[in-house]
Amino acid sequence: MTGETLKIGVLEGDDIGHEIVPASVEIAKKAAEISGQTIQWVDVPIGYRALETHGHTLPEGTLKTLDGLDGWILGPIGHRDYPRRPEAVNPHPILRKRYDLFANVRPTRSYPDLGCLYDDIDLVIVRENNEGFQPDRNVVMGCGEFRPNEDVSISVRVITTEGSRKVARAAFEIARSRRKRLTLVHKNTVFKLGCGMFVESCYEVARDFPDVTVDEVIVDTMAMRLVRDPQSFDTIVTTNMFGDILTDEAAGLVGGLGMAPGLCIGRGSIAMAQATHGSAPDIAGKNLANPFAMIESTRMLFEWLGNNRRLAGASHMSRLMKTGIDAALARPETRTKDIRGTGTQLSMVDAILNAMN
Ligand code: ATP
Repeated sequence: MTGETLKIGVLEGDDIGHEIVPASVEIAKKAAEISGQTIQWVDVPIGYRALETHGHTLPEGTLKTLDGLDGWILGPIGHRDYPRRPEAVNPHPILRKRYDLFANVRPTRSYPDLGCLYDDIDLVIVRENNEGFQPDRNVVMGCGEFRPNEDVSISVRVITTEGSRKVARAAFEIARSRRKRLTLVHKNTVFKLGCGMFVESCYEVARDFPDVTVDEVIVDTMAMRLVRDPQSFDTIVTTNMFGDILTDEAAGLVGGLGMAPGLCIGRGSIAMAQATHGSAPDIAGKNLANPFAMIESTRMLFEWLGNNRRLAGASHMSRLMKTGIDAALARPETRTKDIRGTGTQLSMVDAILNAMN
């Protein structure tokens, strides 16, 4: 056995979450067995099933359990279909805030033959996670969006020096571990105060990273350049809403939402694996959902734990999972249909398991 036992939570979420999260855990369990990393897996209720069994989509006990974990795998949440009741909340913002998971790390990478628009994309978008325009997380009481009268709606965008510096530091660290290039995406030409503060904060942090080259791109230009020359980017950092939109656009370059993984990180020693996509109720239970994004997010969690805690076993797990994923993506018969495959979710998972040795 290798080092400390990791306590990892399993939160299936909704719809396709009940398929792709157990698949990710099965693959991680095999990787852990081979690498000798001991893991205590903890099932934690969340989402619609938790509403039925515990009377709340985010039961109090769930938060208490998460407090004692090293990290967790969160499946997609179908909160838009929840009944309109106070107990049926969207758990995302609460989790990201409570555990100070202020940076959402979303990589975009090309794989051969599966419908990528270019063969050589390899970039990471680091999205600020806890402020910006998102009205459910930018205030401690009330709501960051309101309607003074029937014909007027006001959305408040919160940008702070602290939030900007934190996400910038996370992005610089990632850039330093890659090709040492960081692009700041903003629109300080219009949002002189909000985006202005974000950009200034990023440059303050840049002083600690003289080895990283920094440039800036205005967000609308970025939307165009991601389509025209995504290869010219390495690591990108941006505010919450811009990051939300650009990461879906980036997913479109490499095969769609099923190819868009993510890891939420903060300054603490925990992280949360969370794919970019939603719960896709239209394909739930049909063996159609592409499990890549969830499995890759899980791999990123173990890679991060391996680096952060210096756990050779977790790092080994990540390498094994990568070998399995690469093998499954290489053949049409072991890929799902959304990425030019003839296989199913189950054939993809089997191929990953078989290739991990
Ligand atoms: P949210 O706003 O919660 O992120 P969304 O509006 O982006 O949700 P999704 O649930 O992500 O919606 O689904 C959008 C469409 O993308 C779905 O109809 C589904 O066909 C497709 N999709 C999403 N995830 C996957 C996946 N893992 N595999 C295959 N197709 C997917």
